[in-house]
Amino acid sequence: RQAQYRRLRSKPSVTKDGVEIALQMNAGLLVDLPHLEEAGAAGVGLFRTELQFMVASSFPRMREQQAQYTQVLDEAGPKPVTFRSLDIGGDKVLPYLRSIQEENPAMGWRALRLGLDRPGLLRTQIRALLHAAAKRDLKLMFPMVAEVGEFLAAKSLVDKEVKHLKRHGHPVPDNIRLGVMVEVPSLLFQMDELLGYVDFVSVGSNDLFQFFCAVDRGNTRVADRFDTLSIGFLRALKTIADAANKHHVPVTLCGELAGRPLEAMALIGLGYRDLSMSPASLGPVKAMLRTLDAGRLSARLLPRLEPGHPDSDIRSFLRRFAADM
Ligand code: PEP
Ligand code: MG
Repeated sequence: RQAQYRRLRSKPSVTKDGVEIALQMNAGLLVDLPHLEEAGAAGVGLFRTELQFMVASSFPRMREQQAQYTQVLDEAGPKPVTFRSLDIGGDKVLPYLRSIQEENPAMGWRALRLGLDRPGLLRTQIRALLHAAAKRDLKLMFPMVAEVGEFLAAKSLVDKEVKHLKRHGHPVPDNIRLGVMVEVPSLLFQMDELLGYVDFVSVGSNDLFQFFCAVDRGNTRVADRFDTLSIGFLRALKTIADAANKHHVPVTLCGELAGRPLEAMALIGLGYRDLSMSPASLGPVKAMLRTLDAGRLSARLLPRLEPGHPDSDIRSFLRRFAADM
């Protein structure tokens, strides 16, 4: 199997009917970066910047952050990297950040909420990213956005930092693209507004599913209670892909769903063309998609998402479809 996946590394990531699918990888530490070449990923679709903060014993200083981001960009070379701003708080505790007891940490003071309330922290990170990406491309997205206004507030911090650096004669990135993780269901009802502002979106299906079904992603008692391939959730995922495609805004999905072949197949059937996953999943997903007829799958999958279709068991349908490929 491993050898088979290695052989696939240099093969095009294209379905049997000629649909190109970008396969990117998720990363969070420098040790992940060699996988870009080894696994043949098209880029880093999600760089979880909080990992550096979680392994440190005190807040990484601006220069330390910058050094890490510079190394990431150097190692990625021509391949794009999508950084995600700090997603700390909640269950991702930093020992040196005074944490408050919260009844529902996943829905608490975390991620961009914390960043906007403590702008010094977020601005330092933004500055480090701008320095690291000077004279090259910077792609940055914000986690746990629930309202368009939060993105605009974050964007204005980026604008301020860019101005500040220019005023002091520092080089800035040639191109800055800002995006949002779609992982809070409220965003699904603001897609048209949101897509008018962002340069890209990335679906965080782990959190999106958790909040969509109100099922704690870390609680084994309930984590498998609902199917990620159920009609409701697939309709939600389709809503996002359709809206992004309508607005010509690039959309990626970077949650764990993307790394499971059957789920990845469903995503392609829904219209996703860019998936980011752990490096170990790239081989299996690529092997699946190279034998997939994406057009035929969509033609058979989409009617099943319409109300009144007699067969609502999508997972079994997908298994049968896959067995026939
Ligand atoms: C997600 O929520 O799907 C995601 C990719 O982010 P994380 O798993 O880091 O919360
Ligand atoms: Mg998330």
